[in-house]
Amino acid sequence: MERKDFGWKFDNSYARLPQLFYSKLNPTPVHSPKMIMFNVPLANYLGLNDKLMQSEKGVEMLSGNEVPEGAFPLAQAYAGHQFGHFTMLGDGRAMLLGEQITPQGNRFDIQYKGSGKTPYSRRGDGLAALGPMLREYIISEAMHALGIPTTRSLAVVSTGESIVRYKMEPGAILTRVASSHIRVGTFQFVSEWGKLEELRKLADYTIERHFPEANSSENCYIHLLQEVMKRQAFLVTKWQLVGFIHGVMNTDNMAICGETIDYGPCAFMDTYDPATVFSSIDNFGRYAYDNQPKIAAWNLARFAETLLPLLDDNKEQAVKIAQDVISEFHIIYHQSYMNGMRAKLGIFNEESEDEGLINNLLSLMHKYQADYTNTFRALSNENLDGMQLFESPEFSEWYKLWKERLSRQSETKESSLQLMRNSNPAVIPRNHRVEEALEAAVEKGDYSVMARLLEVLSTPYSHVSDKEDFTKVPETSSCSYKTFCGT
Ligand code: AMP
Ligand code: MG
Repeated sequence: MERKDFGWKFDNSYARLPQLFYSKLNPTPVHSPKMIMFNVPLANYLGLNDKLMQSEKGVEMLSGNEVPEGAFPLAQAYAGHQFGHFTMLGDGRAMLLGEQITPQGNRFDIQYKGSGKTPYSRRGDGLAALGPMLREYIISEAMHALGIPTTRSLAVVSTGESIVRYKMEPGAILTRVASSHIRVGTFQFVSEWGKLEELRKLADYTIERHFPEANSSENCYIHLLQEVMKRQAFLVTKWQLVGFIHGVMNTDNMAICGETIDYGPCAFMDTYDPATVFSSIDNFGRYAYDNQPKIAAWNLARFAETLLPLLDDNKEQAVKIAQDVISEFHIIYHQSYMNGMRAKLGIFNEESEDEGLINNLLSLMHKYQADYTNTFRALSNENLDGMQLFESPEFSEWYKLWKERLSRQSETKESSLQLMRNSNPAVIPRNHRVEEALEAAVEKGDYSVMARLLEVLSTPYSHVSDKEDFTKVPETSSCSYKTFCGT
């Protein structure tokens, strides 16, 4: 079978970077690969033949047993600040297969996750368990449907091998698709261990790939920093607006292209509490919901530091330029967060008191332990039943002010409600639902629960009654829900 029949069209620009940036290697063959999940719409978008990709030979390709012609498997080198501590990392259990050029001419990294040891594996086994790879598949596809920039999941293949975790688990390989896997940590790596020329090569490569318009600006590296800053402000805004908690915002998990990457300990908040943390190892709440914008700015400052030699020949001047750009983050973030919150409340125009109105609602939600998603959903559907929050006199007062606020704009009530329904998801991947789907899949080999969940999550803004079951909060509070890294 020819490579073109499968639809592969690789161009491996990353492999043309200096040798320092990666290690060439082949995926470790696996015993008996089996297709578990395959994303047909994504395959078609990428220009792949979904039928052939699901054939025996396709499964061999998605397990790393057979490298498609034209691919150039490599593990990428990177460093990163993990919980504030700088260290060398790299793809320890991932491998870039190549860059697929889509029929529309877009370029996407095709990456295996869980495909065996690499020179960057340190003490890890290079492998991934089925449960966490299915979890990444569910949550990344849900994020995509929510309109949030994200890496995506093309397939999950089980390897037929058992791997050692807390107990023995079935092994699996996820095929991840990303605009690129260049991270803040990639820049930190070359800044720490590379030469200035290599840093410049990485910056030029990143500009070429993601910000080609920078070439017409006076200093393309300042433009690069500004654009990366804006994309992160936009991304974190989107997270906050749906209550997504990434959980491990280390600099190696921040993609320069502005996509959400690394679905390890992430989870969605049920009850509104700004201090929510799910990750079992985040003892000090560094990556709590409310801290995410601050951490994004902190990570961007680390990115800016790597660019200093390119920003200006004069060190002091370079630092000043970097600080000026980074200090804009909070302004841009705040503006985009406020706009997003206004939309969640059906507000089209701007008034300076809007911030107070929004914050008052949030503090009432906190006080009455209201569900984040369902509060906005109830307001969007004008159905204020069954939540303690809505019974309180403070809420009645707030509601009156909100209605008055809505009357101070020219748009109709119907357009306000429409804006709200388009801005407030009816369903999110709730932790108990995700767990239920994974348990059925991994423990019982029953994929129907996950299939239904994926179907519901594919249209999160459609407020229809047959999804009612998926909007319910867990019976016991999910604040004690715990997630784990590197699983
Ligand atoms: P993460 O916490 O997923 O961002 O991963 C942090 C680092 O640990 C990255 O360099 C990963 O490649 C590496 N890593 C995570 N799990 C494994 C594993 N099972 N084997 C080897 N390296 C791993
Ligand atoms: Mg990572």
